[in-house]
Amino acid sequence: MTEPLALAFANTRSSPGRDRIATVERFRAWARPWPALAACVAAMPPDALPEVLARRDATQVVLHHLAAGEAPPAGELAFATAPGLARAEFRVRPAAGGVAVDDAGPEAVPQVLGRAVVDFLLGPQIAHLRRCQGGGCHKVFVSARADRRWCDSKVCGNRARVAAHARRSR
Ligand SMILES: [Zn+2]
Repeated sequence: MTEPLALAFANTRSSPGRDRIATVERFRAWARPWPALAACVAAMPPDALPEVLARRDATQVVLHHLAAGEAPPAGELAFATAPGLARAEFRVRPAAGGVAVDDAGPEAVPQVLGRAVVDFLLGPQIAHLRRCQGGGCHKVFVSARADRRWCDSKVCGNRARVAAHARRSR
């Protein structure tokens, strides 16, 4: 299953030193699988990126708290979900091969991302939100399996197994 947009967005910073959307070019490349968002991002000026990154960081804080079964901080929650439940300025319309966000310029980027977070928070998958237990890993994922601990068992799971083996053999 493809991860929801809100989670994919939060997971663009998988650890303190790894940011998949650190430049506007990388943000555009990351947005490509979501055509309506990609169209808005294509027109985004580079000086709009810091706000996107701040939104991503707030989204990550909110999801980390929720994955731990805690209430998220109010400031981060408000920022990550804005403009949230406010009346959308944009409409979805039919477009070649599917749908597009009507007349969307760069100002639609926060609308689409904030909406994605609201949709995730209000949807059924929130009950299965978990945070990866890998050391230094910031990723969140949705799993109905209570015993799933890693974002990716080949990456964080392997790392933990190697560390446990090293501890045992010491
Ligand atoms: Zn991980």
